[in-house]
Amino acid sequence: MNLRKPLSALGAVALGMSLLTGCVAGSSSSNGSGDSSSSTGGSVTIGIKFDQPGLGLKDGTTYKGFDVDVARYVAKELGYTDVKFVETPSAQRETMIQSGQVKMIFATYSITDARKEKVSFAGPYFVAGQDLLVRSGTTDITGPDSLNGKKLCSVTGSTSAQKVKDKFANKVDLQEYDTYSKCVAALAAGTIDAVTTDDIILAGFANQSQYQGKLKVVGKPFTTERYGVGIKKGDTALATKINAAITKMISDGTWEKDLKADAGDFSYNKENNPPKATEGQ
Ligand code: GLU
Repeated sequence: MNLRKPLSALGAVALGMSLLTGCVAGSSSSNGSGDSSSSTGGSVTIGIKFDQPGLGLKDGTTYKGFDVDVARYVAKELGYTDVKFVETPSAQRETMIQSGQVKMIFATYSITDARKEKVSFAGPYFVAGQDLLVRSGTTDITGPDSLNGKKLCSVTGSTSAQKVKDKFANKVDLQEYDTYSKCVAALAAGTIDAVTTDDIILAGFANQSQYQGKLKVVGKPFTTERYGVGIKKGDTALATKINAAITKMISDGTWEKDLKADAGDFSYNKENNPPKATEGQ
């Protein structure tokens, strides 16, 4: 099923989200740790989001979205025959890599210098931008500078929440939840005035059947978010292999095909996508 539906209100962010039927993740007998040279055969544990439509979504026993597709492609290229997905919420990503609970994270995970103090990244495999999601009838929130006195929801441990604290701290009543789906539910219920995170995440929620026509993305991204693959700090050999896999996924057409299937036709951030995967080597 493909629900490609351009979100006309988004202007440049004409992004519809649809969902691919995912595959059942196989069971795994190993954990995510281990050195990168062991990446031939066997299973690998990968961290994704479980509640972000179009990117990382758990639906019963299936996993779907663009993060999931990139993760599966990379795992296969690395020689793994079995992938086990676990949930890596925004605030837990560094810890879950450091503790070896996951080998790699594909979870709308922006590459930042602060995070690089604890983990390393391969990629990027996508570039997004921070934006705002509001109720359809909202006319007074037009960008980050129009948030004076508004209740804004974002997620603990995200670059999105940090950006609000750094740049708009005095103006905004920031409410931090642990997942974006909770923020979006609160927005739809009228408890908060806007949600902020990456445009592709917000568009995925806006196009869910229960929110269609009720929510809209403002469509003026105000940051650059380079989605990396989180790995153990200093594992340059693994980063090199992941980057080669991402580069192959882009050059053989799979990247574009999967992105369209997962996120619909989108016409924003074209100048930055697909990116060159050179991080962490
Ligand atoms: N890309 C941003 C980040 O890594 C926001 C999305 C998220 O929280 O996963 O923090």
